[in-house]
Amino acid sequence: MIEIRALSRLYAGRTAVDRVSMDVERGEIAVVVGTSGSGKTTLLRMINRLVEPSAGTVRIDGRDHRDLPAHALRRGIGYAIQGHGLFPHRTVAENIATVPGLLGWERSRIDARVDGLLAQFGLDPAEFRDRMPRELSGGQQQRVGVARALAAEPAILLMDEPFGALDPVLRAKAQADLLAIQASTGTTIVLVTHDMDEAIRLGSRIAVMDAGRLVQYARPAEIVARPAAPFVEALLGPGERAFRLLALARVEEETEPGTAPGTPVAAEATLREALAESLWSGREALPVSRGGSLIGRITRAALARRAAGPR
Ligand code: ADP
Ligand code: MG
Repeated sequence: MIEIRALSRLYAGRTAVDRVSMDVERGEIAVVVGTSGSGKTTLLRMINRLVEPSAGTVRIDGRDHRDLPAHALRRGIGYAIQGHGLFPHRTVAENIATVPGLLGWERSRIDARVDGLLAQFGLDPAEFRDRMPRELSGGQQQRVGVARALAAEPAILLMDEPFGALDPVLRAKAQADLLAIQASTGTTIVLVTHDMDEAIRLGSRIAVMDAGRLVQYARPAEIVARPAAPFVEALLGPGERAFRLLALARVEEETEPGTAPGTPVAAEATLREALAESLWSGREALPVSRGGSLIGRITRAALARRAAGPR
């Protein structure tokens, strides 16, 4: 869906993005992760030409993104940023209706879309439609920002640290919302974050940036199991790698025949959750259940084996 080839951007002779090539497939969530100043925002903004590339190409659905005028291109691509970027003097409904309005949608279609999105994000339309952004909590503003980006049903959604201003609880909720919305709409998403945990939770593929270069682009399990450079390993955090490996796998993968005492763990739970339960309750083995029936057990030895590395 998005083909990025040798894309570069210079600022006053300094390279902010250096010959980045990557493909984002339809319906995928590609997460761009890296430290501050590594070129993530510049890369993202070159896709919708908020920043013009110095060199290289971007193709969307096989077409060079310079074939359309920049403003027309941007109407077809949702864009959400940290701190929501809502227009402060427009109501929630007017904010969400921005792009549909520019596209000349019928009033009734816009109203239905606004109410539908508010409901989808857990905001009662009757209560929230006519509020001003300052009358919303941070989490509500952030949801309206994402709703606005999705309003015209874009095939592509670009998100720059969209959850960066939220506390951990709201952040987890917002991440779950995004995954649910993506699953129901099939929107292709490119999301920028400096948080590797967020990248692992959301990404179907993760692009790791360092000093303007793309140093690794792979599935989360691959990034965790085989970090391509010491830099990527550092980003994963020392000591946390084993936990991340366990967070990527399900209990059913290590379930063996047999029984064990105590409360069962669900087959769909992650190995990380099983390890936490095993350590917390002091049990060497836990029974495993699926849909209410016991299907076997998982041992701490199996968990330790998985934490040590890929099989
Ligand atoms: P990130 O989003 O990963 O923090 P950015 O893409 O914002 O990184 O910035 C990458 C580099 O480009 C940084 O060194 C930054 O200072 C520089 N840069 C970004 N935007 C501009 C600009 N408009 N003018 C000059 N330098 C810029
Ligand atoms: Mg940035």
